[in-house]
Amino acid sequence: MLVITRKIDELGRIVLPIEFRKALSVDTKCDLDMEVKDGAIVLTPKQTVCHSCGAVIPAKSKYCLCKECIKVIKEDESIG
Ligand SMILES: [Zn+2]
Repeated sequence: MLVITRKIDELGRIVLPIEFRKALSVDTKCDLDMEVKDGAIVLTPKQTVCHSCGAVIPAKSKYCLCKECIKVIKEDESIG
């Protein structure tokens, strides 16, 4: 398990490491649920980003693509 140490700034902010954001496809404008659990702060993505266009989509989407990109892929498959 990768552990990265970050300092909290004077306003209580931290930067999420790029490694974690990439691993969970979380980017700017995505919502995260936060909770204190067993002495830890747990962040759970509510949203993630489409791997094709970067649009925000629900984290529990079956595919890591937005509806528009899925539609384009389906249209391409029916043509080709
Ligand atoms: Zn997309």
